[in-house]
Amino acid sequence: MTSRNEELFARAQRTIPGGVNSPVRAFRSVGGTPRFLKKALGARVWDADGKEYLDYVGSWGPAILGHADPVVVEAVRSAALEGLSFGAPTEREIDMAERLCELLPSMEMVRLVSSGTEATMSAIRLARGFTGRDAIIKFEGCYHGHADSLLVKAGSGLLTFGNPSSAGVPEDFAKHTVVLDYNNPAQLEETFQARGSEIACVIIEPIAGNMNLVKPSAHFMHLLRRLCTEHGAVLIFDEVMTGFRVGPRGVQGLYGITPDLTTLGKVIGGGMPVGAFGGRRDIMEKIAPLGGVYQAGTLSGSPVAVAAGLASLEQIARPGFYETLTARTERLVAGLNAAARKHGVNFIADSVGGMFGLYFAKAVPQSYADVMASDRETFNRFFHAMLDAGHYFAPSAFEAGFVSAAHSEADIDSTIAAAEQWFAANAG
Ligand code: PLP
Repeated sequence: MTSRNEELFARAQRTIPGGVNSPVRAFRSVGGTPRFLKKALGARVWDADGKEYLDYVGSWGPAILGHADPVVVEAVRSAALEGLSFGAPTEREIDMAERLCELLPSMEMVRLVSSGTEATMSAIRLARGFTGRDAIIKFEGCYHGHADSLLVKAGSGLLTFGNPSSAGVPEDFAKHTVVLDYNNPAQLEETFQARGSEIACVIIEPIAGNMNLVKPSAHFMHLLRRLCTEHGAVLIFDEVMTGFRVGPRGVQGLYGITPDLTTLGKVIGGGMPVGAFGGRRDIMEKIAPLGGVYQAGTLSGSPVAVAAGLASLEQIARPGFYETLTARTERLVAGLNAAARKHGVNFIADSVGGMFGLYFAKAVPQSYADVMASDRETFNRFFHAMLDAGHYFAPSAFEAGFVSAAHSEADIDSTIAAAEQWFAANAG
């Protein structure tokens, strides 16, 4: 008997390439049939067969409050009743801009867009327009959305499918993208020494979440800030994933580093399509209509999406929000690590704020090369066993996972117990 998920997948593949509207959803690297979800509430999702899962994907990051948070849903409902889209400025957009600038002190001005990709693409264009330079630096394994010049040795879906660069990106574009090793200070220093005056910007996931979770050293990050300043390159922190996920001030707050520009997405939309880029006033004033760098969007600042974003930002500012979220995530990581140790399984987990990494490896990876050396085949078996047991992790060994405020201690403990069962059965 075929399941409803299988029927839908077969049907989807007839009209949608690969049956999905974003590649990792297709389960290609883990194999099997993607779950077609029909409902999500709190920490749980339900598939087309009605099976319930504890969800650690959180719509790939936005669902920090849990799914269908009642305050966010009500904000969306009441905004929708006043009109879905105006294509004209609204007071709510000012509220959102002011809130973002308040929360991230590096942001003096901000522009709203509809996705993380738009945010990073626009920030790169702005950095190039501001500096009058073409070359950009990115790091291998970092994913910044799917703009052409950023699809070079990228992470996320590209890593999952073993092809970190995309077809269809002209060599003429890619040649302006210099790709360096994440967390390699010597190479960074050499590159700036050799080409510093050509570099428009450096874009980085300041904690990487698209080659699994990888934290850079403080030394590397401070060096990066110093070199960009010395050479007049714009430092862009891509906090689309980490923004308001790792803590109330993003990675910039954790490391005490002020980037020139920051890109945001995911959490700031509360599950609706919102992205943003912002930072230094002198740079942001180069955007049209003030300056010559063009950037626009029919649905930018959508009143419904912004209402969801504002309602989310309001709730994550509750006292103790990040303390609880961090403690829940640390509970998951500590429980998984203890279970793996007990059964002698080559596994380790790590976390920061509400974001975690699972690695079938001896030590927490420090670099792209470390991540590539982890045991993906075992991850895939673990993934399917957990899925069958009702625990939904990202269907790729290269994606970070997310805990939400709706995950209870009992939820976390049930996931640890399921993992322990698998570790016990697969020990040695
Ligand atoms: N930047 C980072 C760090 C991301 O993780 C992502 C998406 O996963 C993006 C940019 C692109 O965002 P979007 O998928 O909203 O276009």
